[in-house]
Amino acid sequence: MPITRSQLRASVFTTTAKATSPSSKEITSKYFSSKTNVNETKQPNKSSLNETVTRKTTRKHIIIETEESSANINLSGALSSERSVDKLEKRLEKEPSKPPVGWEGVYNTIKEYRKNIVAPVDTMGCERLADEPSDDITLQTSRFQTLVSLMLSSQTKDHVTAAAIQNLRQKLPGGLNLDNVLQAEEKFLDDCISKVGFHRRKATYLKQTAKICKEEYNSDIPNTVEGLMKLPGVGPKMAYLCMQVAWKQNEGIGVDVHVHRITNRLGWCKTGKAGPEATRQSLESWLPRSLWQEINPMLVGFGQTICSPQYPKCSKCPVNNMCPSVTYNR
Ligand code: SF4
Repeated sequence: MPITRSQLRASVFTTTAKATSPSSKEITSKYFSSKTNVNETKQPNKSSLNETVTRKTTRKHIIIETEESSANINLSGALSSERSVDKLEKRLEKEPSKPPVGWEGVYNTIKEYRKNIVAPVDTMGCERLADEPSDDITLQTSRFQTLVSLMLSSQTKDHVTAAAIQNLRQKLPGGLNLDNVLQAEEKFLDDCISKVGFHRRKATYLKQTAKICKEEYNSDIPNTVEGLMKLPGVGPKMAYLCMQVAWKQNEGIGVDVHVHRITNRLGWCKTGKAGPEATRQSLESWLPRSLWQEINPMLVGFGQTICSPQYPKCSKCPVNNMCPSVTYNR
């Protein structure tokens, strides 16, 4: 089941409240734990962000994206996002969503283009890193590996995530599974994943997640979006992707910064300030459900190769004659 609006709102308010507390650095909020867009007019204090801040500099690309949510995100920014999600919800309630004019042509053109381009997500995306179930690998272990891959992937390039998973596979005595993560020292896990973004925090989350899965889910991972989002460090994007990959259930669109940025540039959504969660709701209101799974890798790869955050290669873009954000500045 997709998360409900009240859950989303509660999630945002939780973040807002915690962001003011002294221990806020430790908090990676549910709502902001994936990747967050920050209102361009409310720039976060750079020193408070522990991550790359990507600022789009062309006239039509003015969103600032933080590569990791920060618990230090300012209060007004959080409230602004919450209000934007509210506004979007109200608009969607009033107007049954109409698909954007011409979206199908753009979608199919990008899809066709992506067939001939191999992007990092195609070979090293976190959805592809788990071992296939076999005589040696149980279904539960395969699902756990998918979850771990997704948890490590935030704020981390695909090849770095892939290397970290390989490290865990090789260095954990007995391989990467729930029991071995539980038995390992947190410091050991941290060393294995030391190249990924926020590795210390993620090592803590891995230990906590393994314990929760063992005790509350019979050594498997949660099989609902809600259950997954209760795990430390797991936000909506990871939860929906995990449901698709690990449980083969199409519950919602996994919206990361690529999907958020590109769908806004293409004019399919107007959720730039509201963030990826609002984009997910907007897209799900009109995009055929059959496309909910493929749109993530399709646009992530498109973002990795053409429609990049800072300097989109518009002159080489296959949809530059249909994109309202096209720019030939560079
Ligand atoms: S023309 Fe293409 S590369 Fe440029 S902003 Fe639009 S989708 Fe992105």
